[in-house]
Amino acid sequence: MSDHLRIAGVVKESIVDGPGIRFVVFAQGCPHHCPGCHNPASHDFKGGQLVAIDSIIDEMNKNPLLHGITLSGGEPFEQAQAFAELARRAQAVGYHVMTYTGYSYESLIDKKQPQQLLEHTDLLVDGRFEVAQKSLRLKFRGSQNQRIIDMNKSRRENRLVLSEIG
Ligand code: SF4
Repeated sequence: MSDHLRIAGVVKESIVDGPGIRFVVFAQGCPHHCPGCHNPASHDFKGGQLVAIDSIIDEMNKNPLLHGITLSGGEPFEQAQAFAELARRAQAVGYHVMTYTGYSYESLIDKKQPQQLLEHTDLLVDGRFEVAQKSLRLKFRGSQNQRIIDMNKSRRENRLVLSEIG
């Protein structure tokens, strides 16, 4: 289990990357290359910087107003083990975890790899950004094909359950 993440950066306080006030971590490295991507500087797997998971948790603990953490990109599932560890530690101290991915929920469920990052995610926003389906009216997502999935209900009901916040 890696104790470091390769990240493009962080935003220490955001109200636009999920419900409540959130700490946002942008993964560095993305294989999807969606036309119109909001963050093309995050695509290079060798770019960004390496940071210790400890240092992110320490930084979050300085802000008593935080409700949760958002894992964005880049593609967090390309560093699934390390982001799962960050998500696990954040949830352990009461933070809500929202994870963005360019993969579909179904393809992540089908993968034969460990599912810890999904297991430690409360809300999952899935799917590539599709510029033809872009809408500025959508909450917490850029294009209409993307879904906000309630992972806790999905686990309980053993089926995909969309969140009501979207
Ligand atoms: S998945 Fe996200 S970060 Fe990656 S190319 Fe698409 S919009 Fe950009």
